[in-house]
Amino acid sequence: MRERLRLAIPNKGRLVEPSVALLHGAGLIFEEHDRSLVARVQNFSLDILFVRAADVAEFVTDGVADLGITGADLLAETGSNLAITRSLGYGRCRLAVAVPSGSTVERTEELAGQRVATAHPTVARAFFARRGIAIDVIPLSGAVEVAPRLGLAEAIVDLVSTGSTLAMNGLRSIEDVLESEAVLVASPSIEMGRAAEIHALDTMIGAVIAARERKYVMMNAPAERLPMLEALLPGLESPSVIPLAHAGMIAIHSVVGADDVWALLPRLKLAGASGILVLPIEKIVP
Ligand code: AMP
Repeated sequence: MRERLRLAIPNKGRLVEPSVALLHGAGLIFEEHDRSLVARVQNFSLDILFVRAADVAEFVTDGVADLGITGADLLAETGSNLAITRSLGYGRCRLAVAVPSGSTVERTEELAGQRVATAHPTVARAFFARRGIAIDVIPLSGAVEVAPRLGLAEAIVDLVSTGSTLAMNGLRSIEDVLESEAVLVASPSIEMGRAAEIHALDTMIGAVIAARERKYVMMNAPAERLPMLEALLPGLESPSVIPLAHAGMIAIHSVVGADDVWALLPRLKLAGASGILVLPIEKIVP
């Protein structure tokens, strides 16, 4: 058994910063060494390997790394059947079929017999084959969105998040091929003795992700308003209720969905809450 666990993460591109932030957020202390191949984690028996995003699946499949962080789209593209241990909630994008804005094409079927440029040839071929649409896939390793303008292809299959890159290049999407986000994957050949360490690491990462989706809300209210306020507060379990020094007044603490906060605050106020505080949460272990 290797002495230390190994986690492979991308060394370049969009997934680097959020992945490093997630690991730091999980409490792992390491220096990035301007992304040389290996960073040694000081407070956990783990080495972080910085490799090409497209190679993460290979490192984990071969057992060179025990765990990896990569995009679900890249897993699909390498045809890997690694188990996804956890979806990480960043690097969200979709792989979409797009055509020039001026094209008359509305439906993917209309691309039959045409050329489709993509950096995801395996996924694209499988998608069109499933649909029974014969197309000519032009594999590219980058700058896919300029292919139609250069006369290289009539359409593309490319990653889209906001759609602004597509629009900037005079393209519009007509159909989604798959949805993607960053994922944590584990090697199929992890030794039994490693289970506790892997579980600890996964728990720390999961605690950060769960916390990002929630906020801690504290407020004061007259005690008789508790039933109304409790009905508005889902919480992790039930809200904490603490008596205040003033008779008849209570403090209520609860955990709420981060996306719900703005809709919730005015309703809490209307229901009698005052001094409402919203705080970030660092980690949640349910
Ligand atoms: P890149 O940084 O372009 O090498 O992309 C690496 C990975 O980041 C992709 O394979 C996707 O999983 C992910 N990603 C997330 N959002 C986007 C986006 N808008 N465009 C491209 N890739 C994205």
